[in-house]
Amino acid sequence: MPVSEKIAQAAIEAMKGGYACDSCIGRLAAELLSGFSNAERGKILRAYVAMLLDAGENIDVDKSNFYGVKFRHAKVDAAKPGKCRICKGFFSERVDELAKAVAKKTKDYEFRTFLIGTVVSPELAKAEEELWHNAGVEFVEPIKNEINREVGKRVERLVHKKFDLKMPDIVAVLDLAHDRIVLQTRSVYLYGRYQKLVRGMPQTKWLCRECKGKGCPRCKGKGKMYETSVQENIEPPLLKAAKAKESRMHGSGREDIDVRCLGWRPFIIEMVRPMVRTLDLRKLQSQVNRSRKVKVRGLKLAGKKDVEEVKSARYDKTYRAEVVFEKKLDDKLLRAARKLQGVTLKQRTPQRVAHRRADLVRSRKVKKLQLRKLGSRKLEVKLTGEAGVYVKEFISGDNGRTEPNLATALKNKVKKIQLDVMKICV
Ligand SMILES: [Zn+2]
Ligand SMILES: [Zn+2]
Repeated sequence: MPVSEKIAQAAIEAMKGGYACDSCIGRLAAELLSGFSNAERGKILRAYVAMLLDAGENIDVDKSNFYGVKFRHAKVDAAKPGKCRICKGFFSERVDELAKAVAKKTKDYEFRTFLIGTVVSPELAKAEEELWHNAGVEFVEPIKNEINREVGKRVERLVHKKFDLKMPDIVAVLDLAHDRIVLQTRSVYLYGRYQKLVRGMPQTKWLCRECKGKGCPRCKGKGKMYETSVQENIEPPLLKAAKAKESRMHGSGREDIDVRCLGWRPFIIEMVRPMVRTLDLRKLQSQVNRSRKVKVRGLKLAGKKDVEEVKSARYDKTYRAEVVFEKKLDDKLLRAARKLQGVTLKQRTPQRVAHRRADLVRSRKVKKLQLRKLGSRKLEVKLTGEAGVYVKEFISGDNGRTEPNLATALKNKVKKIQLDVMKICV
């Protein structure tokens, strides 16, 4: 079939068995020419088919498609058309209504850019599929693209914000199958560094294993495993300012629950579904710092792409531990143990995390090691190690899983370790 016929035939197929609106006809040639809306393309094609009719060609289409067309030669009895048989009147009736609904729904949100997404109803999907089957798909555009664009243009005019395909602040999903609009708001990400000044606190909110947050006897109705967390110390002023209900904490590694972090650990906190995006970070930082358990500094705006970077960064760290041994410390052995500075440890996955991590042997270097007696059984250990060094296991030996180790070097056994992260070498 020559291409001229192909294009006319596509329009004719659209007009078979009922009225088709300009948009639905024009969408079949959406890939041809720019600077036209599909409705304009449809108008042209309708006129072209009308010309063929007027020239005497016998074409099997529903004549209501030519209501109001003035033929010179052909006798066409065009009844007043009903709704478009393909979009069921969507482009004539619903586009404005949906644009207004989006404008209303986003009214209380701060945003600069938006995008429209559409989930078409099963009826629309079926009508489109049938049309493509009969009319061909060479130059078509999916109906949802046209809905997104047409509603988007109107929303732009209503709310004076920009339609943005790349990184919209808000996506309004027109769920035509369920006749509802769902807003998806891009998270606001804040980078900062934190200090954790107390022990016995995890980095992130940790829901109760038993009830998953509902509250049960195990968690005494709190719904979580620990009273609070670094996240819960940081988030309250941020959630309030961003009018968000939930945050996600992305730390650059994490210290154990019983370990303090006196060095400043990089993190990103993500405000999920925020209604406000412009935040006074200096003010928020000082509000967070009213907490006695957690301090933050260097709070600044970040992006989603920074999350992976922060999470995967590997920094050397300096630790300080106070270790209590079972027996008195031997000064000669202590002097010998100082030679462990510079050693590369072979560390099998510690027993305490073996249930959730693969059992393998890691090599990590102890770059600096200082040992100082604080009492007959008490030792201060200052250690700078490569990222990922298991410090407690280096001290205790972890039943021979870390070699070499301090306990073996001192021919002693560890009773207690209190550990602090002193410095994160960013
Ligand atoms: Zn239509
Ligand atoms: Zn519970």
